[in-house]
Amino acid sequence: MKLSKYFVPTLKEVPNDAVVKSHILMLRAGMVRMLSAGIYSFLPVGYRVIKKISEIIREEMDGIGGQEFHLPALNPREIWEETNRVEAFGDTLFHIKNRDYVLAPTHEEIMTYHARNVLKSYKELPQIWYQIQTKFRNEARPRSGVIRGRQFLMKDAYSFDATWEDLDKSYALHDKAYKKIFDRCDLKYFVVGASSGAMGGTGSEEFMVQSEAGEDTVAHCENCGYAANVEVATSIVEGKLRDEKSEEINEISTPNVKSIDELCAFLKIDEKQCAKSRVYIHEAKPVLILMLGNDEVNETKLEKLLGGAFRPAHPDELKEITGADAGSIGPIGFNGRIVADLKLKDGNNFYSGANKNDYHLSGIDLQRDVKNIEYDDLRIVKSGEGCPRCKQTLKVFTAIELGHIFKLGTKYSSSMGAMFLDEGGKENPLIMGSYGIGVERVMACYIEQHNDEKGMIWDKTLAPFQVQLIALNVKKQEIMDAAEKIYHSLSAKGYEVLFDDREAQAGFKFNDADLLGMPVQVIVGDKKLKENKVEVKIRKTGERFDLELEMLEDKIKDILK
Ligand code: ATP
Ligand code: MG
Repeated sequence: MKLSKYFVPTLKEVPNDAVVKSHILMLRAGMVRMLSAGIYSFLPVGYRVIKKISEIIREEMDGIGGQEFHLPALNPREIWEETNRVEAFGDTLFHIKNRDYVLAPTHEEIMTYHARNVLKSYKELPQIWYQIQTKFRNEARPRSGVIRGRQFLMKDAYSFDATWEDLDKSYALHDKAYKKIFDRCDLKYFVVGASSGAMGGTGSEEFMVQSEAGEDTVAHCENCGYAANVEVATSIVEGKLRDEKSEEINEISTPNVKSIDELCAFLKIDEKQCAKSRVYIHEAKPVLILMLGNDEVNETKLEKLLGGAFRPAHPDELKEITGADAGSIGPIGFNGRIVADLKLKDGNNFYSGANKNDYHLSGIDLQRDVKNIEYDDLRIVKSGEGCPRCKQTLKVFTAIELGHIFKLGTKYSSSMGAMFLDEGGKENPLIMGSYGIGVERVMACYIEQHNDEKGMIWDKTLAPFQVQLIALNVKKQEIMDAAEKIYHSLSAKGYEVLFDDREAQAGFKFNDADLLGMPVQVIVGDKKLKENKVEVKIRKTGERFDLELEMLEDKIKDILK
């Protein structure tokens, strides 16, 4: 492809509506343009990457016996009514003015529709059906470029099995294929066992990558691969070692001291000596939760412990229940259930509020002074804490979901009446799984993980082109002749070459080449050419060297091996 005729509108400046690295680079490299919030057009260079990712996905899906479909995006609404999902999707579902149709946000219903009355016998099972197709979701906050779009490309696959054991097999095949796909795309990812949420079914895993653009917060252990959403993540506790001697309780005047940090500064103590109190109302009764220092209460864990709805006590309730305002509350003299986080277990010599404004107590011994205290894991896990599996250090960060595999069970087949006859001649609903990958997200996440201050860094697998050929001073006939020759011979050998034959300054061309990030740059200039040489630059390492023209093809073959 010749850049003088190819539409690659690169930008020097960072577009001001873009924050996330991949979004900035995709705009700057002329790969995408926004049409409307969450709706992106892919331009030629960007679309080449989408096609490469799609091809890898196809190869691996075909490798596990998947059969490629192409379902309509425009769906009769009545099929979606069969599973009650018009209501379940709510505002996320795009309706068109004609209310008889919806734009499909996923395709469980349509695949089940095609399976119904067709997959009639166990003899026709298993089946794996997939497609790479546009989805529409009216996302409330489209952002981070193509990472959260309102229209996006998904590889969605569906398995149909006769037994739950066979579903396990289909699920395992997808798990394997997904790992191959993400490995081939050179993505650093990890797997989180997720709750199946509102979708129904049993068992699911999410393939995630660390990213500032992520909307999920996860705890991850690089050592053993433990990964969990912080809502459910646990960590090991070293436990506060009991001091040998328990002090007596002592009341200390702490005027205007409200937070743990203020208390520590005022008394010159460490936050690990402080027990922080939070009061919640559960079934009209107050519950005091004690946390060590600045640890935060994980409300998902608390909900599990209390076994139902709860809410933080209002300021006026706090005063009535404890006699003090938030900031001066503590376990001593508190009338009600008290649960402490495991980090506080059986500790002594703690500082806490005195249930009297502007006063704190020292010398609290939870064993001696707080009868009936309960302990449970109630913390939000923090970076640096111990992995619950291998005790190494956990990291907490935001992450993006790249893909999702999911045992649907019979949710859709039951509600839509997709039945088959089993070996014993009995009628049963088909046992299903669903498996998704966001194609644009794979591309954006790759860019998130492979870039430097100059631009993107493509590996040969996903690179839009393997070689960027740069002719300096295109007005010189010898240069253009030599560059054309290289362009044709490399293209004939099957390399994808982007030929910068534009009339422009060398610096401008170098910057564009680094921004676009093809693995190899070949630079044809006057001085080197006189010695029958060109300059080669490897984008990833920045390494540059001169090469005899005759050596070029072999060297490129070697670099791209
Ligand atoms: P998220 O929690 O990020 O909204 P999801 O749970 O809604 O994802 P699924 O319904 O499981 O996602 O869809 C399968 C895959 O489709 C996801 O793993 C993701 O890669 C991709 N995907 C989902 N929503 C979007 C979107 N709005 N824009 C781009 N890709 C998306
Ligand atoms: Mg979603």
